[in-house]
Amino acid sequence: MALFDKFARLAAARRELARQGVVPFGVEVERIHSATEGEIGGRRVILAGTNNYLGLSFDPDCIAAAREALCAEGTGTTGSRLANGTFAGHLALERELADFYGRRGAIVFSTGYLANLGMLSSLTAPGDVLLVDADCHASIYDGARLSGAEMIRFRHNDPEDLRKRLLRLGARAADAVIVVEGIYSMLGDRAPLAEFAAVRRECGGYLMVDEAHSLGVTGDRGRGVAEEAGVESEVDFIVGTFSKSLGATGGFCVSDRPELEVLRYASRPYVFTASPSPSVIASTRAALSILRQRPALRRRLWANAERLYRGLEALGFRLGADPSPVVAVLLDTREQALAIWAGLIERGVYVNLMIPPATPKGRSLVRCSVSAAHEPEQIDAICAAFADLRGIGAAPSRAPAAGGRGGN
Ligand code: PMP
Repeated sequence: MALFDKFARLAAARRELARQGVVPFGVEVERIHSATEGEIGGRRVILAGTNNYLGLSFDPDCIAAAREALCAEGTGTTGSRLANGTFAGHLALERELADFYGRRGAIVFSTGYLANLGMLSSLTAPGDVLLVDADCHASIYDGARLSGAEMIRFRHNDPEDLRKRLLRLGARAADAVIVVEGIYSMLGDRAPLAEFAAVRRECGGYLMVDEAHSLGVTGDRGRGVAEEAGVESEVDFIVGTFSKSLGATGGFCVSDRPELEVLRYASRPYVFTASPSPSVIASTRAALSILRQRPALRRRLWANAERLYRGLEALGFRLGADPSPVVAVLLDTREQALAIWAGLIERGVYVNLMIPPATPKGRSLVRCSVSAAHEPEQIDAICAAFADLRGIGAAPSRAPAAGGRGGN
């Protein structure tokens, strides 16, 4: 095969989409007005596909903190955390994250992707075993690959399948690392963490939870699904990102394990990349402080999530899981998903188009993500745009929630 032949399928798929007059991936947001409004294709749109769960990307305190750091510390650190790239802000944010989670230590990474890559590739090595939920994010699979550990996929959200696979490992189960997410990004379904924790208690191993989509979203203090399920003490490593509820970029891991500190030195995705810019760290610290002090934002987020979910449900659309800030509208075909996505843009609403191979079980869907910053009227406008397109994807009555359960 010639070097570039491997792109033939992708190129054909792109051409086919372009032929249908849509360019759904890498859409240019020509202008951004606020956490919930921008311009795409010369049209003002409501942003309903951004993961900006608390709407903090435009928070005045976050912007002021970023501006101050930018002026005081410059545009970038120009170096790795292990060289010249550790500033006071990085260390302060690590202390604040550890304090927020009530954990002994924290590591800040340059992105959430790198947090998973950095943790998994340093924690596990050839000879170790990783057990990964089938629907986990690409960064978890890539981290597993980089580690060289044996990787076993278990059925999505299926503690019994995990249990069987751990039992099969015999004595090796004691040192296996189990990886799941809190809320899953495609369908918005939650991991049954209490059940997973019980399996781990019975069979052994270490538990890592990626709370990328649940930090600031669930739990009494906004710590995520582990807090909500009351099993935080049974989770060894919590990983997360600054790119969703905290409105910036970056990632982290918190843990009580004393080894976390030395793991930095073994983590290539931590060592061999530049640290986050001072302004990013400053806005993230401000956002974390707001997340802690303003639980009302979480309540607004959930009120909006319920409003959108009930609105789409009433229109007869099939939805991916129970209400959550990720509301996935399931469609039968790629063509339907494309038509709804493009129709929504025409009606002033931006959501995410998700089609195979990026989706679990080859599903086609459009994914809405709700923000605390949405006004109820914006949620109603999103529903009204979907109502116009009901002919394409809605069933007369709601089908059973798919929830992403079962194996791929
Ligand atoms: N983990 C999960 C579960 C995610 O959904 C994402 C981003 N979509 C990431 C990690 C990566 O986060 P980041 O954007 O900060 O690289």
